[in-house]
Amino acid sequence: MSDSDGKKPLGLKGARPGNVKQSFSHGRTKNVVVETKRKRVVVPKPGAANAPAPNAAPRASDPSKRPAGISDAEMERRMKALQAAKEQEVADAARRAEEEKKREADRERRRAEAEAKEREDREREQALKAKAEEEESKKREAEAAKNRPAAPAAAPAADPAAPVAAPSGPRGGGKAAPTPARRDRDDDRNKGKGRVDDGRRSGKLTLNQALRGGEGGRQKSMAAMKRKQERARQKAMGGAVEREKVIRNVNLPEAIVVSELANRMSERVADVVKALMTNGMMVTQTQTIDADTAELIIEEFGHNVVRVSDSDVEDVIEATEDKPEDLKSRPPVITVMGHVDHGKTSVLDAIRNARVVAGEAGGITQHIGAYQVEQGGQKLTFLDTPGHAAFTSMRARGAQVTDIVVLVVAADDAVMPQTIEAIAHAKAAEVPMIVAINKIDLPAATPDKVRTDLLQHEVVVEKMSGEVQDVEVSAISGQGLDELLEAIALQAEILELKANPNRAATGAVIEAQLDVGRGPVATVLVQTGTLKQGDIFVVGEQWGKVRAMENDQGKRVKEAGPSVPVEVLGLNGTPEAGDVLNVVDTEAQAREIAEYREKAAKDKRAAAGAATTLEQLMANAKADEDVSEMPIVVKADVQGSAEAIVQAMEKIGNDEVRVRVLHSGVGAITESDVGLAEASGAPVFGFNVRANAPARNSANQKGIEIRY
Ligand code: GDP
Repeated sequence: MSDSDGKKPLGLKGARPGNVKQSFSHGRTKNVVVETKRKRVVVPKPGAANAPAPNAAPRASDPSKRPAGISDAEMERRMKALQAAKEQEVADAARRAEEEKKREADRERRRAEAEAKEREDREREQALKAKAEEEESKKREAEAAKNRPAAPAAAPAADPAAPVAAPSGPRGGGKAAPTPARRDRDDDRNKGKGRVDDGRRSGKLTLNQALRGGEGGRQKSMAAMKRKQERARQKAMGGAVEREKVIRNVNLPEAIVVSELANRMSERVADVVKALMTNGMMVTQTQTIDADTAELIIEEFGHNVVRVSDSDVEDVIEATEDKPEDLKSRPPVITVMGHVDHGKTSVLDAIRNARVVAGEAGGITQHIGAYQVEQGGQKLTFLDTPGHAAFTSMRARGAQVTDIVVLVVAADDAVMPQTIEAIAHAKAAEVPMIVAINKIDLPAATPDKVRTDLLQHEVVVEKMSGEVQDVEVSAISGQGLDELLEAIALQAEILELKANPNRAATGAVIEAQLDVGRGPVATVLVQTGTLKQGDIFVVGEQWGKVRAMENDQGKRVKEAGPSVPVEVLGLNGTPEAGDVLNVVDTEAQAREIAEYREKAAKDKRAAAGAATTLEQLMANAKADEDVSEMPIVVKADVQGSAEAIVQAMEKIGNDEVRVRVLHSGVGAITESDVGLAEASGAPVFGFNVRANAPARNSANQKGIEIRY
């Protein structure tokens, strides 16, 4: 609304102009013209109420003007009627006046009530505002003081206007006489600009109100007000009533992010960071602290520490001991070991061909790495993976699968280096042995030489009054095979092998490969429980769901009990031989465990360079009360020095720890030595010999220490 162009400013016709001066910071001001359009008010003319009087009356009242042709009687009657009408009129007027008065009183009362309420509201509002805007409070207060007296004054001024507007009486000539409303408006105008904050105008947003922030945009929300009140109340009470401290059990992993620590304690992050800083740890909430520091903080906050480790994900794998009454006897699992070309494969094949094929119509057996035969109503499970490499690698992976070792020694060749290794492995695993003296059909066979040779390696066979069963066999002629099986069955009886078939299965992978058509397949030997189709399992770093199972005869089976080998389909990856299979409840658990193991294996490989030293091994052996022996593997250039070293080593040791020589031999340190060492957590000692390249690589990978 600028009038700079000299033209008359734009305005409403018949509006009441007002002027409001806005003041801003830094002394800037702005004039704003406010025009308000009045409502047209209709007021009945004071005299108008008399209008209903008959038109003729005024004329009739004057007898002199009596129209011609009207008799006295007639005239009198008319006068009487006129009189009556007049009286009626007076009574009506009185009644109306009475009613008007009553209405007026009523309105007065209502208005008073409304006013009181309004005043109350305003006062409350102002009190709140004063609190909220402290810095401007002084200025505000002065203004409020100015406004407050004006408000009650304005209200009565409006009073006369209200009643007159109300009656919707007959209208006529309303414009002519100056009504009370009109007078009031004139008064308003005379009083001038300051009258914008009129009580009558409440409900409409005026500029002044907007600026004051009263009912305008700057008013705080109801919720904010409530919050403020609540805070104030709590502040008033809070000092006295300290919130009861909840002591929590805080799960603490090996490392934890500060904010997560605060979260687990249900404490404020800022408080935790503060506590850390007072303990000399300058960290932010996104940083990770170690468990020991976190433990200090948790204790400082008065909570309980529960140390957990990542490996706890494996806790879901049931490690419960079976009750003796749940255990049922199970078939023994047999591994055939011996020197190369002494006839291990031939013996295994001979047994299989003699038993399995004979029993099965159809005959063709599927090679799945293990098979079962029957001997006198008892089942025997043979692992079809000859050689101690598989045996050792399985043991290294935690799968103690074999119950009985069959040591094959060729009768024409006697004890050879790998025979000795096999003996060492079997002894390390504490698995009973049965000696099968093979190739007995050959003319050059000297079985007694084998027996005496074995004596040197602390294997005393029955024929030499020892405990170890020995059987003369021929894989080619089939001679002695029955006796061998009988010996195995007898040994199994002595062992009293038992397992609970009615629980979640555990098993060991005997072999696994990626099959082009079927995906990853693993031959699993069930050890306890029963593996069923549809079971969810974790195996090593892999997991899966049993999609299908085939037994050693290539037949589909729905379940497999203890000591039963089956080929399992439905893995998400290829496990390794010796991996342990555990059935779990959910896929999520299986995946979680597999992921944890994968990570752990990666970490282990990364740490393999920093393998445990001999000193550490010794210290561990001492620290662990159960370990009273420290296993070692010794290799030397000549038999004499090997023996000397072994004797010297065996003399070392005290009441707590003694050295146990797992194996001593002549020649370079081989992969087999490293494998044996790994399975028992032993170091390998070389005297005037070196490790060959594969052995070195293997040792590096597995973190086995080789000392020269
Ligand atoms: P492995 O390396 O220990 O598995 O030995 P093999 O089973 O491969 O046998 C090696 C060689 O010995 C083969 O040529 C067999 O034919 C032979 N052989 C195995 N067992 C016997 C046996 O009982 N008598 C004779 N004469 N030869 C045998």
